[in-house]
Amino acid sequence: MGDPKGFIKIKKKPAGNRPIHERTGDYSEVEQVLNSEDRQLQASRCMDCGIPFCHWGCPVDNLIPEWNELLYKGDWKGASDRLHSTNNFPEFTGRICPAPCEHSCVLNIEQEPVTIRENEAAIVERAFTEGYIKPAPPKERTGKKVAVIGSGPAGMAAADQLNKAGHSVTLFEKDEKIGGLLRFGIPDFKLNKRTIDRRLEVMMAEGLEIKTGTEIGKDISGKEILKQYDAVCLAIGAMQPRDLSVKGRELDGVHFAMDYLAQQNRVNDGVYVAYDNRITAEGRKVLVIGGGDTGSDCVGTAIRQGAESVTQIEILPKPPDQRANDNPWPYFGKTLKTSTSHEEGCERKWSLSTLQFIGMQRRVTHAEVELVDWKKVDGSFKMKPVAETAQKIEADLILLAMGFVHPIQKDCLLSWILN
Ligand SMILES: Cc1cc2nc3c(=O)[nH]c(=O)nc-3n(C[C@H](O)[C@H](O)[C@H](O)COP(=O)(O)OP(=O)(O)OC[C@H]3O[C@@H](n4cnc5c(N)ncnc54)[C@H](O)[C@@H]3O)c2cc1C
Ligand code: SF4
Repeated sequence: MGDPKGFIKIKKKPAGNRPIHERTGDYSEVEQVLNSEDRQLQASRCMDCGIPFCHWGCPVDNLIPEWNELLYKGDWKGASDRLHSTNNFPEFTGRICPAPCEHSCVLNIEQEPVTIRENEAAIVERAFTEGYIKPAPPKERTGKKVAVIGSGPAGMAAADQLNKAGHSVTLFEKDEKIGGLLRFGIPDFKLNKRTIDRRLEVMMAEGLEIKTGTEIGKDISGKEILKQYDAVCLAIGAMQPRDLSVKGRELDGVHFAMDYLAQQNRVNDGVYVAYDNRITAEGRKVLVIGGGDTGSDCVGTAIRQGAESVTQIEILPKPPDQRANDNPWPYFGKTLKTSTSHEEGCERKWSLSTLQFIGMQRRVTHAEVELVDWKKVDGSFKMKPVAETAQKIEADLILLAMGFVHPIQKDCLLSWILN
């Protein structure tokens, strides 16, 4: 344990975000960084609990109290080594993980959890700056060849582990660059893409081969891959977006969130998109349908593009500000989440179901919505429309951000299985 009284003496101090007026003028990361001294003090707040509930909450089993202690003592290299022993890419999770560890932290009983996610990001950034993260190719190769298909965080992590184990790994990606939704879904203001390239450079220096612009099942058949490799790992994500089959869905100005976000990410990367194909919120009244992370990222992007107004609607009821009685610590708190994008200027509405899109001269002008009521019946929630609550929301750009249902199967998995 770093400092037995750290959690009493030191208050929680998050790094905070860049001011709204500044950050909405660019796509650079919103979150700031603390100086090293403050960061070490924040690590001293960790109590090294007998039962570290943070560890229980972490999906990758990060050894949180251990690296918090090393960080507090100023052993940045030791902290980085311990962090990397369970997590291939702390620079991704340190930026965008929803941090269930902090929800489970014992200090969160008093709503003052250790700043675990930020500590993690600080450790890995320092490790890159100091040169602690260097290519470390395996000493021996096994002679086995493995194909990893799909280069999102899952594919990247699998490829990294397999390569470290001595196999000769090729990472296949259908898009032009590695990273999956980290690259083309999540906006730069949450995760700058240099973090992906920087890690990739290390992995390639360790012997990882990458093949981008190659769709397995189309450019190379599944049979061929199975012939060429000893093992194949599928990490193709679940990118089929949930659609909304209502009247007016075909109108101009109604788009899937990913078509919108991926285009802006490409534009930020210097890709030219012809004016006619550009989906932009500039001067538009934007309606985002779906209240999750993807919807929130649409909000932040629309604001940066110069939207006239942004409204976000969600079909579920508004979550409570405090944990409900059936959602106690140390479980993930199902409370209202206000993202940095929401803070930038967005009207949010809940319990609204979309009835139809209305347009003029082929372009959408409004969405008709109605209130719904949620009741628990036999243990599960059931939705019922509330009579006479239909209303119109003016919008000439509507973004569908209602989650993803399964992997894309056209031209890919199906042909893999059939060929
Ligand atoms: C807008 C948005 C914001 C998000 N924000 C957050 C956040 O803040 N925090 C968080 O924790 N999570 C967030 N997520 C979720 C997170 O991005 C995903 O959970 C994660 O990327 C899934 O990783 P994956 O590797 O399984 O799949 P993906 O990232 O989807 O990667 C799959 C890859 O496989 C490739 N592929 C598919 N088929 C083939 C084929 N046949 N041949 C070759 N390549 C193929 C795809 O092109 C893709 O690159 C967000 C998601 C979105 C869309
Ligand atoms: S639960 Fe919180 S205080 Fe306890 S070990 Fe984990 S991070 Fe430290």
